[in-house]
Amino acid sequence: MKTMAPMITVTALPAFTDNYLWLLERDGHAAIVDPGDASVVSQALASRGLVLDAILITHHHPDHIGGLAALAAETGAVVYGPRAESAKIKGLTVLLDDGDQVSLRSLGVSLNVLAVPGHTLGHIAYFEPTQRLLFCGDTLFIGGCGRLFEGTPAQMQHSLARLADLPGDTAVYCAHEYTLSNYDFIATVEPDNASVAHEFTRLQALRAAGRATVPGTIAGERARNPFLRSSAPELAAAMTARTGQAMADSVEVFAALRRLKDGHVPRIR
Ligand SMILES: [Zn+2]
Repeated sequence: MKTMAPMITVTALPAFTDNYLWLLERDGHAAIVDPGDASVVSQALASRGLVLDAILITHHHPDHIGGLAALAAETGAVVYGPRAESAKIKGLTVLLDDGDQVSLRSLGVSLNVLAVPGHTLGHIAYFEPTQRLLFCGDTLFIGGCGRLFEGTPAQMQHSLARLADLPGDTAVYCAHEYTLSNYDFIATVEPDNASVAHEFTRLQALRAAGRATVPGTIAGERARNPFLRSSAPELAAAMTARTGQAMADSVEVFAALRRLKDGHVPRIR
């Protein structure tokens, strides 16, 4: 007799160059976060014998929604996504706002919706509070954050602060494997930070072994991700040294970090 799985399983489905589509699965039922490519998801469903009940969208970029229409047509899955981007995302069936809950009964989980504008203005994240799983799209990356295509530094800083407030053991399922290039940047910002150097070595070994660096944890990001540490005096000093300008507040530190990262050419990937 098959026993009920006590928890949901989360699996990375790699797509394109460096995207991760996150497959949530329990007892034959599944949900997918940000299906940029339908074929990757269809193959996983078939090989695992899963029924897709839900599609969760974080924001409107093509590498996150490209497979939405085909998968919805193929499976009849309910499609959840941000109300604020519903004009840009065709096929949403449930429109979400900050504070909403998504109850996936077949998977036995409920996810809290957090508005996290910055990368895009309507970007949302999904947080599962029992197992403590965070699906944050292109907002928070391991060692970094998304580019500010639509929002301001202050908006993104606030969004990241909300994510940093989640429990420390929350698993951070971001949508890209950008970790080594992020750490390459951090190493230039804080060359004397032993914790960063130690973690960089560990992460490089993981990648060399062909393994994902995602998920990380909120505690790890709080400790080492400079975009969550823009209030730290050492980062203000580092940004002043790099830019030659005094930093009036943490928003200026954040903005300086983001600008420098935008122009950073990693020595490693
Ligand atoms: Zn994006």
